[in-house]
Formats: sequence, structure tokens, C-alpha cells
Amino acid sequence: MTFSNGVAAALKKVTIRTEAFIGGEFTPARSGETLPCITPIDGSEIAQLSACDAADIDAAVQAARASFESGVWSKMPPRKRRQVMLAFADKIEAHSDELALLETLDMGKPIRNTRNADIPLVVQTIRYYAEAIDKIYDELGPSPHDAVSMIVREPLGVVGAVTPWNFPLLMASWKFAPALATGNSVIMKPAEQASLTMLRAAELAQEAGIPAGVLNVVPGDGAKAGKALALHMDVDALVFTGSTAVGKLIMGYGAQSNLKRVALECGGKSPQIIMEDCPDFDAAASAAAWAVFYDQGQVCTAGTRLLVQNSIKDEFLAKVAAVAKGLKPGDPLDENTRFGALVDETQMNTVLGYIEKGGAEGAKLVCGGERALSESGGFYVAPTIFDGVDNQMTIAQEEIFGPVISAIGFDDFDDAMRIANDTVYGLAAGIWTSNLNYAHKASRTIRAGNVWVNCWDGSDITTPFGGFKQSGFGRDRSLHALDKYTELKTIWMKLS
Ligand code: NDP
Repeated sequence: MTFSNGVAAALKKVTIRTEAFIGGEFTPARSGETLPCITPIDGSEIAQLSACDAADIDAAVQAARASFESGVWSKMPPRKRRQVMLAFADKIEAHSDELALLETLDMGKPIRNTRNADIPLVVQTIRYYAEAIDKIYDELGPSPHDAVSMIVREPLGVVGAVTPWNFPLLMASWKFAPALATGNSVIMKPAEQASLTMLRAAELAQEAGIPAGVLNVVPGDGAKAGKALALHMDVDALVFTGSTAVGKLIMGYGAQSNLKRVALECGGKSPQIIMEDCPDFDAAASAAAWAVFYDQGQVCTAGTRLLVQNSIKDEFLAKVAAVAKGLKPGDPLDENTRFGALVDETQMNTVLGYIEKGGAEGAKLVCGGERALSESGGFYVAPTIFDGVDNQMTIAQEEIFGPVISAIGFDDFDDAMRIANDTVYGLAAGIWTSNLNYAHKASRTIRAGNVWVNCWDGSDITTPFGGFKQSGFGRDRSLHALDKYTELKTIWMKLS
């Protein structure tokens, strides 16, 4: 099977920008170095991306700082800033088909996901924060009669964002939209595997009226460009989504440099608990499967630890396996495909390595477990389920970031709570039960930033998103996200 004709046709419908966007202009890496952009759909090269390093980051920081100090954005009247951001959202919406295609080409998730979810959610995110700009008030304190105390929010200045490849433009928008709305100038360092939509979005931002230097994008290797951004002495905050290992490095860079603020979203190993009194086994089985197989499991909230009460485990897992077996990996560019490619060959091999380890440590393979569609040249792994998993096994403790469910049995509610919390992560969790006491007790017992009851991944832009424990700290989405991008200033005026 070959998908190359589809890739070639899709490439004709998109605008590919590969150079850094600094100070309102596309510019190659100062070193002249480039990185190949490989589409995981068929393994072919679709572009050469500028491989930026510290020199390019420095230029971007200078451009961002100059734009910030000039006040061209930071001091723009709120209503006007709101209008420009709404125009930016409109531009993204007008180019949503193109951006969806570009995202799918770049990182291999099904076009139905990028078209129906990722890009519309980017539009929604920008609009949400744009609308907030002229609706949020500062505070007056309860001061004595001869004084006025004001508590005001001010932008931080220059914000750096290092973002991942799994929802490339959406995760980026969770950073740049609130950062821009609060008047900051921003430098984005997208993941090298999937930088194309962010580069194109920066161009659309400029067309919408975001001034030069306010939104910069510097692609390149994380260990060079990302590290330089996080270590830069003139960057006021670094916000990050990615692995816990890199999150720890970023915190260190902040401490080693200028004590810049850091916020981290670092993934998870989320438990999804099915009690024997689950109100709807079919709905729960479908949710359990999609909680891991959506976007091929490359989702930080994926419910990869499926905790099932032993009394119903065999029957329930059979239902989940039926969903998995019906999900055939397919061409991500085909509108009917629901299960696409992994982001690159490295990630595919990482996932296959975890599958091998699961078997070696004694877990029982129920389905999947192998590479699929290898004749296409792309990077596909079949939906995979392991039963008989012990929570201490590697596949129950480490984030696989692929389509692998680790099913773990438990005896009673307390047992489930113990296993659920036995992880270094704390991003998300879910419980399916008809018992209100269990629902409430689990919600308050599990140490995670998001808990779902009788559903999975219920959320929208109005609710905060982030983790406990080594899943990081700081919140994306909702008005709470604005805290990350503003300083709180107290002004006390003595009256005569
Ligand atoms: P990383 O954490 O390495 O990448 C996330 C971002 O950090 C990318 O932009 C990357 O750049 C950048 N980066 C890498 N090293 C540094 C560094 N030293 N300093 C500054 N920035 C850096 O994730 P990977 O892409 O390597 O994926 C590995 C694993 O991470 C996955 O298997 C998954 O478990 C987890 N992950 C979790 C995500 C989440 O949403 N929580 C998202 C992505 C991955 P570049 O890629 O260009 O090197």
C-alpha cells in the first residue's frame, strides 16, 4: 500500500514556511543549518526546516524585547488589541482547511481530527483570550480613607514557549493566546517534528495586524534552540509542554539564568477506573479505548492505565478489545481514517520497545503489538492492549505516548485508589460508577489536575488544564492561565 500520491496532492494545497519568523520576517538559521521534515504518512521528506540555535534565539529575543518596550502591543488600548486578536482568529479560521492538512502532513494524525478538532479549537482558544482582554478589571483594595490601593496586572515582557508535537498548533495556542492577550511579546520554539503550522500561523498573525516582533517563531532542535531560549537572560518566562525529563531541565535552566518564571505541563500515566457498578459498560468500553487510541495515544491525558474491578474484568476487556480490533490503521489523509501514524520513526520504535518490554515483564498481549502498514513507508503501530499488568511494570509506570493500554485488575474501591495514586504523575484520572460516594471520594482522593466521572476528557477552554506531582505545575486554558503571563503589582497612593 502506498500513500505517496495523497501526500503529493496535499502538498500542492498548503503553504510551507520553513524559516524562522523573527521581527516580522522569515529568515534562515544564521548557521545555514537545516533539518529534514519527514511526513510519517509515508516516510518521505516534505521540507527542510531551519535548524536554529542560540544566535537565532538571541535575535528573536532582541526583536521581542524591542517590540515590548516600544509599547506597540503591550500598550495598545485593550479594545484594539482585542480586535487584532479576533482578526487573527478569523485568519486561522479562514485557513483552517490548509492548516489541518499541514498538521496532518507534518505529524500524521488523521485529517478528521485536525479538521474537526485541533484547528477549530485553536480558533476557539484565540477568540476566548481575545474576548477576555477588555472584560477583566483590576482591583481596588479596602484601603483607609487617606489612601488608595490598587492591585494591577502587568505583562511580564518577553515570554518563551517550548511546545510539543502531539497537538502542535493547539498546544502552542494554549501558550501564545493568553500571553499575547496580556500584552507580552512571545517567542515560540515548536517541536522539530511538527513546526510547520506554527510558522504559517505566525504569518497569518502578522496579516491580521499583530505587530512585527510581537510573535516570533524559532524552529530547531530542543537541545540547541529550546535550551538557548530557556537559558536566555532577557526572557521573563518559559512555558513548556513535553516530557518530564525535559521539564526538569527547563526548571534548571530557569534557575541557572535569570530566575525566569517557569510553567510545565509534562504528561502522565492516567488511571481510568471501571467499577463493577459502572452505569454503562458499552459507553465505558468505548471511552476506555478512545482514551488511548485517539491520536494514536500521543495524548498527555491518555488513560493508559485501565483499572478494572476483577469481578467484571474479562467481560469488560473483551468489549474494549472489540473496539481496538475494529480500528485499522489507515492513511491519515483519508477522511474515513480514525487511526493514523505516529509522529516519527523514533517514536514508533520507542512504542514498539515498550510493547516488547511489556511482554518480557509478563503482561499478556490481548491484541495489536506490532508495526502496521510498513509497506507504506510510514510509521504505524496497531492498537494494542495488555492484560494482567502489574502496576509496578514499566508499561504501567512510564509514559509510552503510543496506542498501548495497560489493563490492571483491582479488588475493591480502596485498592483502586491505592493503585491510581501509585505513580509519579498526576495529570488526569477517571472513574465509572453509579455510586455517588465512590464518584465523590475518588475525585477528592486521586492526586491529579483533572478528574472525570462517567466520561473521559470532558473539558473545554473555560476549564483549567494541568497537573499535580511530576506532571508539572501552572495551568493552561481558562482565565486562570492569565496568571502565568502577568505580574501582580500593588500601588498604594497616600492622599493629602
Ligand atoms: P520532549 O520533551 O523532548 O520535547 C518537547 C519540547 O521540548 C520540544 O519542543 C523539544 O524540542 C524541546 N526540547 C527537547 N530538549 C530540550 C532541551 N534540552 N531544552 C529545551 N527544550 C528542549 O519530548 P519528545 O519529543 O522527545 O518526546 C519524548 C516523550 O515526551 C514522549 O514519548 C512523551 O512521553 C513525552 N511527551 C509528552 C508530551 C505532553 O504533552 N506532555 C508532548 C510530547 C512528548 P525538539 O523536539 O525540537 O528537540
